[in-house]
Amino acid sequence: MLKEECGIFGVFGHKDAAKLTYLGLYALQHRGQESAGIITFDHTRFRTIKEMGLVFEIFNPKNLSGLTGDMAVGHVRYSTTGSSNIKNTQPFLAETSKGTLAIAHNGNLVNAKELHGQLKSSGSIFQTALDSEIIIHLLSKSREKNLSDAFIEALKQVKGAYSLLLLDKNSLIAARDPYGFRPLCLGKLDSGWVVSSETCAFDLVGASYIRDIEPGEILLISKDGLKSIKPFPFDSHAFCIFEFIYFARPDSQISGQSVHCIRKKLGKRLAKEAPVQADLVMAVPDSGNSAALGYAQESGIPFEFGMTRNHYIGRTFIEPSQQVRDLEVKIKLNPIKEILKGKRIIVVDDSIVRGTTSRRRVSALKEAGATQVHLRISSPPIKYSCYFGIDTPQRRKLIASNKEVEEIKEFIGADSLGYLSMEGLLESAALPPQTFCTACFSGDYPIKIKDKINKFSLEEKT
Ligand code: SF4
Repeated sequence: MLKEECGIFGVFGHKDAAKLTYLGLYALQHRGQESAGIITFDHTRFRTIKEMGLVFEIFNPKNLSGLTGDMAVGHVRYSTTGSSNIKNTQPFLAETSKGTLAIAHNGNLVNAKELHGQLKSSGSIFQTALDSEIIIHLLSKSREKNLSDAFIEALKQVKGAYSLLLLDKNSLIAARDPYGFRPLCLGKLDSGWVVSSETCAFDLVGASYIRDIEPGEILLISKDGLKSIKPFPFDSHAFCIFEFIYFARPDSQISGQSVHCIRKKLGKRLAKEAPVQADLVMAVPDSGNSAALGYAQESGIPFEFGMTRNHYIGRTFIEPSQQVRDLEVKIKLNPIKEILKGKRIIVVDDSIVRGTTSRRRVSALKEAGATQVHLRISSPPIKYSCYFGIDTPQRRKLIASNKEVEEIKEFIGADSLGYLSMEGLLESAALPPQTFCTACFSGDYPIKIKDKINKFSLEEKT
């Protein structure tokens, strides 16, 4: 399964900033389950709580009450850059030439290695393996007096995917890279402002969705209101299409579109492109649910719950270690024998990465009594690694990078296998003038990647 890197949430001008951020992070937990943190500012000092673990494990009424202030930034993290340890948790707080700053980042910089080397050569000392620390060093070194100008100067030097929140003593600044890889949206709550990776967090805190932060936009939120700056020349946008397929929560809206409805459209299109005779349609829960519903509606074959997901597995010891993946598959999903016995089933999933998980699932469904298992995938084959904030294995480990569909079917042990076509994906998600990054399917990277063999980890260098 692919992993999202991070989720971010910020509040400006609300007396319950820490509690709202806690709830916001709760809603964004699917975007990162290894660590979480909140930094607030109460007009005298910044206050921080960051720990390894899930949001509900880290925060409680007592420690939240110590996070005073009406401004906050929060972060949930799944590590792809830097190892999974407390040192690399976010938000990151730093004393800079522009004052004390807290930063929270979702994305991945593709020129982090070069910038890190340059900064180290010029005397910078790094405390973490975070891309965000590079941005802070660049900002601090800027000769611009004004924070927003220094931030813009720093962002002009970085390449890659970033949705960022920056908090200083006077303002909350939201920024999205010119390609708009990762989502970021603005909401209003009472007289305050909230910014979130996804709108599902607004629903939980009772905020109203105002709009998306635009690709290349820097939005300054202060007591003087909102100020939007667009300092980057327009480039073609490249929103990560995988947010629609899998990463975003189905109850979120992206660019005004319901993620659940898009996923249903993917399933409907898949039913047209890859039909098969069967007794029931089921999802690999939860990520395949919406597409499976769409497949069932389009095909007229009944939808059933053929597998139950165990939501209560602790994460600390099963993520992201390779050794316990077998155990993870077994304890996460359990087939419902009474539903499956003697049936020809269509199983809808969002993607196939290495193929090993799908193989175990197909085998489990057959052991449970299914006579035929037809696997349908609501995206095209993943053939290339992601360098923009999603944890994908090296290319050679992606099953579709070196096997044809028929070979993958044989490996997985399914009776048939059908993927959604690229045309089907793009037409189902279409929202002109939105254009997408589809690089993990096509290899057509919106930004040139120098080192495609090894993803850069600052940890190797520090
Ligand atoms: S390569 Fe794939 S996962 Fe990465 S940003 Fe592009 S579409 Fe998203």
